[in-house]
Parts: sequence; structure tokens; C-alpha cells
Amino acid sequence: MSVKTVLVTGGTGFIGSHLCLRLFEEGARVICLDNCFTGSLENFGGRYQELVLSGRFEFIRHDVVDPIKIEADEIYHLACPASPVHYQYNSIKTIKTNVLGTYHMLGLAKRAGARILLASTSEVYGDPQVHPQPESYWGHVNPIGLRSCYDEGKRVAETLACDYHRQNGVDVRIARIFNTYGPSMAVDDGRVMSNFICQALQGQPVTVYGDGKQTRSFCYVSDLVDGLCRLMASDYAQPVNLGNDGEITMLELVGSIESSLGVKVSTVYEALPADDPVHRRPDLTLARKLLAYAPVVGLDEGIGKTVAYFRRILGIDR
Ligand code: NAD
Ligand code: UDP
Repeated sequence: MSVKTVLVTGGTGFIGSHLCLRLFEEGARVICLDNCFTGSLENFGGRYQELVLSGRFEFIRHDVVDPIKIEADEIYHLACPASPVHYQYNSIKTIKTNVLGTYHMLGLAKRAGARILLASTSEVYGDPQVHPQPESYWGHVNPIGLRSCYDEGKRVAETLACDYHRQNGVDVRIARIFNTYGPSMAVDDGRVMSNFICQALQGQPVTVYGDGKQTRSFCYVSDLVDGLCRLMASDYAQPVNLGNDGEITMLELVGSIESSLGVKVSTVYEALPADDPVHRRPDLTLARKLLAYAPVVGLDEGIGKTVAYFRRILGIDR
């Protein structure tokens, strides 16, 4: 059997690096494409030389806002900063990444005859008025707010994917990814899990935005990557939620991190960012039925692994 070539855009990022490693372990030829805005080759740890020397791993520094010609059998299109801090840093660039970048990758998929999976997001549901969120919910998104470069950008990306499927028969998959965490998140990522853990490890108060009663549902990265691979292997061209449906408040998250570290953590309250969703939890009925998807890493176990990673990265041994 010939070796499958898989292109992963955003491949040096948090989720992308885990995905590249999984695909490589499964025997694929992996092309990792990234502009390294928020990602880094350091996310492959000491394995980068080994990966390249295998002859089955290639890194291409490229910005998806520009077109590129590559041959591939499958494309996982993840390129886009995911943390509000990073996607708001240059919001116009974020829209271009989502719209032009997805347009270029869909065009590439069409020309190469590749199957393409779009990494969409729970943010397409905005600040949801339906709870938990099933794929049939059209969402409640502010089209002109600070988050809209990302939320609306991903909504257009989904539209493009569906139109390339309808009009050109491109074989698309659409994953609506809910909050994912784990090792290889950047220390300066800015999302809540890395912020709280790094702050707590460094003996600083954790920064709770708003009253801390807002909820999220956190998925450990290996479970999410498993869901992405299952979705890619399926024959379903409509959006599918992927995540973990355990829902907690940010204050409860502080408690979980305290339990993991075995220390009391102090809190400092800061203003809630505009349009910050109040509640978020995936309805995973479709993923369970269609993909036999079942996240297996519980929050305590996942936080433990993430804490161990940040301890190492920050050089903290207590
Ligand atoms: P990340 O920021 O760690 O990774 C994104 C990667 O894309 C980085 O390596 C970055 O350098 C690269 N990138 C950004 N703009 C690019 C461009 N114009 N050209 C080429 N590369 C570019 O984020 P992540 O958490 O790994 O997220 C990966 C994908 O999953 C994103 O598309 C994100 O929207 C989606 N997603 C993530 C989550 C989550 O909780 N982690 C939730 C929903 C959706
Ligand atoms: N948050 C927080 N402190 C932080 C970072 C984030 O309280 O240091 C809150 C944020 O306001 C949101 C939740 O945690 O309500 C999740 O934020 P994150 O940026 O991780 O993800 P998203 O809002 O995109 O789901």
C-alpha cells in the first residue's frame, strides 16, 4: 500500500503538532505547513531531526493567505491563531487567514483531489442561546465585535467549505472544535487553561475575568486529535462538534488546578472581555453516533499532564 501524504496547515501549533505526530506514528507522510505566528518547531520537542531524517516529514514555512501548490491525499486545515489574545492582535490578518487561507486550501484540495478537514470552532455559536449546542443551532454571533474576526471568519470558512462541496464536489469535513487544552500550549497563549496553570505554578494570583461563573467544557488534546482523525475517515461532509461535554465554571477550574498542585491559589478579578460567551457545552450526540467518538481523558488527569508539561517548560520543580 502506498504511503498517504497528509498536509497539516497550522502544523507547528498546539493541536497541529499533536496531530502531525499522530499521523506520523500511523505511517503517513506528513507535510507540516505553518507561518509560525503562534506555533513553533519546538512543539516537536527533540524529535524534529528524527522526523525530518525519516524522509516522511517535511516542514514548509508558508502563510496560507498566499496560494501554494502542494500534492496531498488529505489536508487538515488548522492554520489560524486560536487564542483571543492572538487572533485580536491583528484582526484583519485573522479574517484574511480564515477567508483567504481557507479559500486557498479548498482550491488546493480541489486541484489535488484531496479530502480536506476544516478546523472550525464552537465560536460559530457565539454567545449561545441554546444549551448545550447541537450542530443544528445557527448561533448568536456579534458580527462587528472584537471576536468577530475569528467567529465570522470561521463561519465564512464553513460556508466556503460547503460551497466547494456542493459546487465542485470537494470532499470536505468540518470539525467544530470546543475548548481544547494540553501540553504544547504556549506559555503566553493567553487562554484560560495555560494562564491559570502558569500563573499558579509561578505563585501568582490567577486572573479571573468577570465573576468566574461563566462556563466552558474542556477537552484534552489527545481526545480531540482522535476525533479529528475519526472525522477525516468518515464520509460525513457536514459540521460535527468535537470536544468534551463536561462543563465547569472558571472558578471551579481554579479549584481543579488547586487540587492538582496541592496548594491554595489566590485570585484576582479582571474585567470580562466583550462578547465573552456565558455558557458553552457541546452536544456530542452526532460525534458519538457517527464516529463512535468518546473522549477518555478526564479533567483531573488532563490538568495533571498539562501541569507536568508547564513545570518542565517553566523549569519549576516544586
Ligand atoms: P495555535 O495558535 O496553537 O495554532 C495555530 C497555528 O496556525 C499556529 O502554528 C500558527 O502559527 C498557525 N498560523 C496562524 N496563522 C497562519 C497563517 N496565516 N498561515 C500559516 N499558519 C498560520 O492554535 P490551536 O489551539 O492549535 O488551534 C488550531 C486550530 O483549531 C485553529 O484553526 C483554531 O481555530 C481551531 N480551534 C482550536 C480550539 C482550541 O481550543 N484549541 C478551539 C476551537 C477551534
Ligand atoms: N479567562 C479568564 N482568565 C484568563 C483567561 C480567560 O477568566 O486569564 C476566561 C475568559 O474570559 C473566558 C474563559 O476563561 O470566559 C475561557 O477563555 P479562553 O480564552 O480560554 O477561551 P474562549 O473564551 O475562547 O472560550
